[in-house]
Amino acid sequence: MKRKEVNSSRMPVYRDAGFELFDAGTTAEAFKKETEHEREPDNYIYSRYRNPTVVSAEEEVMRIEGCEWALLTQSGMSAIDTALSIFQNSNETRPWLFFTEIYGGTISFIESVLKKRRGLDIHYFTPENGKYDLKEFGKEISKLKPALVYIESISNPMLIVADVQEITRIAKKNGSRVIIDNTFSTPLLYKPLNDGVDIVIHSATKYFSGHGNLTAGVICGNSRKIMQDAIEYRKFVGHMLSPDDAYRLQTQIQSFELRFSRQCSNAANLAEYFNKVPVIRKVWFPGLKNHPTHTIAKKLFEGKGFGAMITFDFEGKDGKEKRRRRDKFIKLVSEKIKLIPTLGDPHTILMPVEAVWGSKYPEPGMIRLSVGFENYNELEKTLRKALDAIGKS
Ligand code: PLP
Repeated sequence: MKRKEVNSSRMPVYRDAGFELFDAGTTAEAFKKETEHEREPDNYIYSRYRNPTVVSAEEEVMRIEGCEWALLTQSGMSAIDTALSIFQNSNETRPWLFFTEIYGGTISFIESVLKKRRGLDIHYFTPENGKYDLKEFGKEISKLKPALVYIESISNPMLIVADVQEITRIAKKNGSRVIIDNTFSTPLLYKPLNDGVDIVIHSATKYFSGHGNLTAGVICGNSRKIMQDAIEYRKFVGHMLSPDDAYRLQTQIQSFELRFSRQCSNAANLAEYFNKVPVIRKVWFPGLKNHPTHTIAKKLFEGKGFGAMITFDFEGKDGKEKRRRRDKFIKLVSEKIKLIPTLGDPHTILMPVEAVWGSKYPEPGMIRLSVGFENYNELEKTLRKALDAIGKS
């Protein structure tokens, strides 16, 4: 049957596993060109290699990130695997240096895949008193001379903002590549490629898709060589995003800036409010003057916002009382604020820190909030009701 052209204004979902190549000449040409690893090929061959719906969604990410190329993957973790693995080389023996305050899943990947299985020489750099000491970092890096440095712009759950500009400058002086996971800041607050970072990663599961309904990752950059290596790796290990998820991401990312700026302003208002609540002992939010990295956040984000995550801790004479208050809070808000282990959803959601990180952060009352884009007054009302009740009990 001959297919009719349809005037759709959107890229449709192309669910084809393989694409028609018609004759031996076109096939030979398509496979020859495939070795050049262009992001958008002249002839699509097979959806694990490249898919038009995915390519179109990548263009939306490129627009937002302001970069030369973006490659979508099935998850944030597969984006991380791709970004790191392309720098693994059988002739390369230099170590890799990771900042410790990064996503727990990335730490597990480093430990169980990079170290245990692939035998890489891994080193970590730890913060002191809630921030990174860049003098120490300078000493460490000039001693180690790592092939790559890996950081997150805003850490989880203490929301430490890394001075990415300075870290990149020091890393480059020492001949290291820099990879950054920018999931928490998003390009609305900061675009690391402009400061010389080699690769930016996002878990697109979070703010880019923004509705808690798909899992995706993306790596972004400006270097053609890195892009070709990443396309090749994504193809061979099968990290390609599905066309259905790419279509939904492409649609949902249209509202990213609106959603995220509202989430940031809701979070800033909420952090100010929490700061005045007697039953809350401490609030961690980079927009508050008392956050250890407030000055760095102001410099890096240039007043565009401070992200949409808040961590706070309850007052209490001991751990038992703090846990009791935490549990009561979770129960009292549960109608409107759900305990869901993700972030970047439309509605505010929460996580009890101790239940996820164990004793790494020793305050048992701690709660991490991913602030949504719901009506701020309604949100504060829900929280105020719960916190007033806890204050009285
Ligand atoms: N990076 C950060 C900062 C994350 O928070 C997460 C997941 O929570 C990931 C990467 C992994 O992303 P995904 O769950 O999409 O694989």
